[in-house]
Amino acid sequence: MTIKTRFAPSPTGYLHVGGARTALFSWLYARKKEGQFILRIEDTDLERSTQASVDAIFDGMNWLGLSYDEEPFFQTQRFDRYKEIIQQLLDQGDAYYCTCSREDLEQLREQQKANKEKPRYNGKCRLAEITADTEAVIRFKNPENGEVIIKDLVKGDIVVANKELDDLIIARSDGTPTYNLTVVVDDMDMGVTHVIRGDDHINNTPRQINILKALQAALPQYAHLPMILGSDGARLSKRHGAVSVMQYRDEGYLPDALLNYLVRLGWSQGDREIFSLDEMIALFDLKDVNVSASTFNPKKLLWLNHHYIMNSDPEHIAHHLQWHMTQQGVDINDGPELVKIVKAQRERCKTLVEMAVASQYFYQEFDSYDEKAAKKNFKLGSDEVLQTLLDQFSRLQEWDGKKLHQIVLDTAENLEFKLGKVAQPLRVAISGAGVSPAIDITLSLLGREKTLERMAKAISFIKEKNKI
Ligand code: GLU
Repeated sequence: MTIKTRFAPSPTGYLHVGGARTALFSWLYARKKEGQFILRIEDTDLERSTQASVDAIFDGMNWLGLSYDEEPFFQTQRFDRYKEIIQQLLDQGDAYYCTCSREDLEQLREQQKANKEKPRYNGKCRLAEITADTEAVIRFKNPENGEVIIKDLVKGDIVVANKELDDLIIARSDGTPTYNLTVVVDDMDMGVTHVIRGDDHINNTPRQINILKALQAALPQYAHLPMILGSDGARLSKRHGAVSVMQYRDEGYLPDALLNYLVRLGWSQGDREIFSLDEMIALFDLKDVNVSASTFNPKKLLWLNHHYIMNSDPEHIAHHLQWHMTQQGVDINDGPELVKIVKAQRERCKTLVEMAVASQYFYQEFDSYDEKAAKKNFKLGSDEVLQTLLDQFSRLQEWDGKKLHQIVLDTAENLEFKLGKVAQPLRVAISGAGVSPAIDITLSLLGREKTLERMAKAISFIKEKNKI
């Protein structure tokens, strides 16, 4: 049997971390089993669904590299099919029209509350044999006896008595189908074999199973994923910081790091933390998904990001860095190859935003010096040190990091200065700040022209500042 999983987001907001984790687990399971993974946009809530959210889902999936099979499905394009199934259920006697008014239902709820009973529909119209009525909703006739057993691949068997379930509405009075109906029809028609989703849907599952049974459809297997919590123990939400996938991209995270982080939210292999995508596919199994909730830890995500920045192919990092440089308005054609920048900067940058900011000076002029660095290193006399270096640098035939570095070392020795007293003013002069990669690398990446110009500019600045 070919395994088929699906990710079925409702486009009512951005793609958030919880959704991305669900998508990843569904994707991994399909890829692991050499099955299929489909994307289904559940956009039947016309009031809350937006095109911007649909785009955000596509962008997020794309950025994470979670490729799907077939064209994405849109539930709004399947209304005819839902109508057909609703009619079938009516014809079979598994659904009925209900004309109970909002007030009737409200009253019923109040009564049940007063009697300390669970609020549920009392089945008043079930036997009323109401024929098509424009004002009526349509309810599914849930079995009254027996029980539903969810054989959950994560949580184990869950048994729900049918007495606990009331007759849920499958079509509103305007004829539009409700969530539980559309999901069932789609999972059935699309041949979904494994429904992997957040455990906030667990209450819907017995209802969906009953509808599937009424339709004599094969039951999929279910795997409900545990919740993701914020550090305060509450369900992860906006107030815990960035929860949108694309916000992580904007903040300089690599998709590889986020995927690795997400896979560990609820799934483990001993103490192991680092998993490439191929390793995840090879090792992933639903039986290793944790039963209890997991806590989102932004520090760990940052640590993973740094790990991937340091250890991934520099070409790959450069590709993502380029996007950030462009975002920051930097023309990368006017400077060194990005791959070289990655190699020079990756130890000290935990995010690509940091790397892009820290690398701008290789491509464009800066307007001012870092105040602290300038105060400390542009003292009276630093101009002379820089001038000595500038004279020697200018005479160099070949702009070579090693040779440039040797000049810096020799100059410090000749002047009987500590190395920092020579190298630091130079560093501030060419980079604008007190930190940069090793001086030989910085100088060779920056190139002759920019270096000499900036040194001359710094000399004038120091003279001016110290009023010589
Ligand atoms: N559309 C639902 C949601 O976004 C998910 C439905 C499902 O996975 O069954 O929460």
